[in-house]
Amino acid sequence: MAREQSNERMEKLVSLCKRRGFIYQSSEIYGGINGFWDYGPLGAELKRNVKDLWWRHIVHQRDDVVGLDATIIMAPRVWEASGHVDTFSDPMIDCKTCKGRFRADQIHEIPCPQKPSKMVSECHGEKTEPRAFNLMFTTHVGPVQDDSSLAYLRPETAQAIFVQFKNVLETSRQKVPFGIAQIGKAFRNEVTPRNFTFRSREFEQMELEFFIKPDEVIEAIHGRVAVPEGKGHPGEPQPDWGWQMWHQYWVEERIRFYESIGLPRASLEEYWQTPEELAHYARATVDILYQFPFGTQELEGIAARSDFDLSQHERYSGKPMKVFDDQLRAAWKELPEEKRQALWQRYYEARLGYLTRSGVDASEAGEMARADADALAKGQYIPHVIEPSAGVDRLVLALLANAYSEVTETDDKGRTETRVILRFHPRVAPIKVGVLPLLRNKPDLVRKAREVRDLLRPHLTVFYDDSGSIGRRYARQDEAGTPYCVTIDFETLGEKDPALKDTVTVRDRDTAEQVRVKIDELPAWLLERVR
Ligand code: ATP
Repeated sequence: MAREQSNERMEKLVSLCKRRGFIYQSSEIYGGINGFWDYGPLGAELKRNVKDLWWRHIVHQRDDVVGLDATIIMAPRVWEASGHVDTFSDPMIDCKTCKGRFRADQIHEIPCPQKPSKMVSECHGEKTEPRAFNLMFTTHVGPVQDDSSLAYLRPETAQAIFVQFKNVLETSRQKVPFGIAQIGKAFRNEVTPRNFTFRSREFEQMELEFFIKPDEVIEAIHGRVAVPEGKGHPGEPQPDWGWQMWHQYWVEERIRFYESIGLPRASLEEYWQTPEELAHYARATVDILYQFPFGTQELEGIAARSDFDLSQHERYSGKPMKVFDDQLRAAWKELPEEKRQALWQRYYEARLGYLTRSGVDASEAGEMARADADALAKGQYIPHVIEPSAGVDRLVLALLANAYSEVTETDDKGRTETRVILRFHPRVAPIKVGVLPLLRNKPDLVRKAREVRDLLRPHLTVFYDDSGSIGRRYARQDEAGTPYCVTIDFETLGEKDPALKDTVTVRDRDTAEQVRVKIDELPAWLLERVR
């Protein structure tokens, strides 16, 4: 029953998205292409708002994060260093009967190949053994299509940040701890794209790589490493924070962000990956899950990735990724010998662990780790990183699902009607205000309404609508999620009560309450409520 209700809710949402121009199937007139989606006029605005808000929160409102906009196709070695060429694959099972191909870990919750709208517990045909299937899309660069021209469409935006780390460090006047943020397309040849846009083959990511000092460096400088004392937001960043504090800080910052754009905390869950689930280089990963109608699933992952990524690129490119920290060098000189040795040893072991797990042979790894630990004593280290990585499309879908509500009303003739209201937080709403002249055939009303539209346009997304009854027009804006509608009526013209001249009615989408606001105060009145 619950599954049926949520499927029905999803079906309604998908059909609303098409009907109102939020999301269409890609290449629909040619029958579509599985796993690809286009955003229509309202969807494009919603998606832009999501990306702008993320960027504002992560980059513009902070001193310690800068942006990057890198290419989708990068040198193929990048994906060897990152591990994607060897390991970015899903274990696949083929069904010999229905010829379907499924992810081994999802075989219990797959759409039936014969009837994709139905979920089947398991197709009963005979299955092959699981086989690795690489998720990267390939292409060729230049006119010759052979192995030497092979390239990949990036499966994540993060790697460009690591690859450009040194350039950004040198040109941005930032010092560790600091972050680099990027928003952009990513491509994964998902085996079973499903749940509308949730698992697509082309999607967008919003990723932050926040570089921090290794704990050994913090301890050398500050004599201690601050660790979390409980749950919740740990407050303003402090110089003695180790990776655990930074990790907790970013988990809480990201949850606050979701709350600030209208996803209630109660609709989100934190899932801490178990040691068995963690990637070998990760110290901790928290997935932020959202209660989608089809289940509680990942919206964003926040991983403490140690110094794995920069270390890999240092080894594969041969270019140093270490930073120099004069505070560390000065502090090291002052440390008692015993402390120096202890920190040297801990850093050496951490580096040795990384190198051996990454396949460097034992004797070489020992030498390299020793060189790294010696460099630490001279003030040099490879930064560690905390990575909050979110999907734009999943967030847009979460916002749509969260906003979707139905109201059933009976009019004065006794007819009942159920209609949809998208209760978006005003910050994400695609249109902030509808401007409606009461009647379209009264030139004075129309002139005034156009003046109001032009007054608001430089500040807000405005939709001007003069067709149909005012009730219909309100309903259309409710369905688009527009938080406010401004009506220009005869009182605006001062025809009934001169005191009301140059005032308009502002209607609130969620309460349907109406207030009168002076036109010259309207931009500030609205901006205060939609920002
Ligand atoms: P999943 O386990 O759901 O496949 P993931 O753990 O592989 O996701 P990451 O590699 O951590 O995902 O990517 C970071 C974010 O990018 C995810 O939290 C999600 O929001 C988004 N994302 C990943 N894959 C897809 C996809 N196929 N379609 C839409 N968004 C995606």
